[in-house]
Amino acid sequence: MSKVLIIGAGGVGGVVAHKAAMEKVAFSEVMLASRRIAPVQKLAAEIEQMHGRKIQTAQVDADDVPALTKLLKEYQPKVVINVALPYQDLHIMDACLAANVDYLDTANYEPLDVAKFEYSWQWAYQERFAKAGRMALLGSGFDPGVTNVFCAYVQKHLLDEVHYVDIVDCNGGSHGKAFATNFNPEINIREITARGRFWENGEWKETDPLSVSKMFDYPGVGERKSFLLYHEELESLAKNLKGLKRIRFWMTFGEAYLKHLEVMNNIGITRIDEVEFEGKKIVPIKFLRALLPDPASLAENYTGKTSIGCLCEGIKDGKKKRFFIYNICDHAETYKEVRAQAVSYTTGVPAVTGAVMMVTGKWKGAGVFNMEQMDPDPFLEDVGKRGLPWHVEER
Ligand code: NDP
Repeated sequence: MSKVLIIGAGGVGGVVAHKAAMEKVAFSEVMLASRRIAPVQKLAAEIEQMHGRKIQTAQVDADDVPALTKLLKEYQPKVVINVALPYQDLHIMDACLAANVDYLDTANYEPLDVAKFEYSWQWAYQERFAKAGRMALLGSGFDPGVTNVFCAYVQKHLLDEVHYVDIVDCNGGSHGKAFATNFNPEINIREITARGRFWENGEWKETDPLSVSKMFDYPGVGERKSFLLYHEELESLAKNLKGLKRIRFWMTFGEAYLKHLEVMNNIGITRIDEVEFEGKKIVPIKFLRALLPDPASLAENYTGKTSIGCLCEGIKDGKKKRFFIYNICDHAETYKEVRAQAVSYTTGVPAVTGAVMMVTGKWKGAGVFNMEQMDPDPFLEDVGKRGLPWHVEER
């Protein structure tokens, strides 16, 4: 029985708080903390009403390391689930080390002033976590997260050598808005407008943003045009999968979404540097975020499904084989269960599963770990039962 502290009360934080509260065996107590107290209290009331469990609440700015350390020392959780924004990762890791607590997140660190994300900053904590005997689990969402574990499962059970991996991510749902992002708009737009990148024969290859596409037939959704993007799990998988020759990431976007994005880029409202406006300095993308719908607010009328998986090709017993391993998730079903849309749900459920793996000791270690470094079997068994069933097809 262990206490868990969740930081962040947005779309993903809401799912994590609901599902953690529903997990009455592994988590003896649940606390939800975030920068503003109002969303935290709203979620706590909703959780008590829906699942009959009282969770504790706190207000904390996770960038204030001494304040967060104080909260962790007082509450003494076994693990912190960080579902605030990537900008907070290093501060939360610092506080976890100071308070001797395990750490988990769903997105790698990204500096505020450069639209660049990579694991180097967090991998640099390896020695400090190892020395402290604490565990930091990185990227326990869906992608990164379940996709890494899918690859580890294929490597463990289905192929002797994994040569080619294509991670394919489709949101085939509709929220009925002209333009909205399914998770934090600032992080989402920074990711999509970045240059594409994939790994082949030991080196990284770059492409212009959204310049490479292909059709892919997604189970539960159908054929959709998918665009090559850089995504963070490529970095750790390229390092940890043995015998890999190429790994790429693809995501679907509708015509209307791409048209809006193009216009916003052209007029400069996705800029991340400061501009002078009526005597004040503003960052255009932050202003845009304030105008766009809050991702959590899309949930109520969302219809359709997400379909995300890994197409893995390699060798088994000397023969070439290809497997597709995937999950389909229905927006309306997730709304019924935890008042969230499927993009938040597919991120929040693996975060809770990762934390359960850590508090039960099914996954343990001292240091900083990516998901594929752990045994895939207990995680996949749990995540399926917790709401994300998965399937394997030979193709
Ligand atoms: P939201 O913007 O909806 O929520 C972020 C939450 O973090 C808000 O409650 C926000 O509070 C809080 N927060 C921000 N700054 C601080 C701070 N300094 N201290 C404390 N709390 C803070 O984002 P999402 O829920 O959509 O996304 C959460 C995370 O999940 C992101 O890191 C995102 O990249 C990741 N993600 C991962 C995916 C995966 O599959 N691996 C997929 C989708 C998302 P406030 O409202 O006051 O600003």
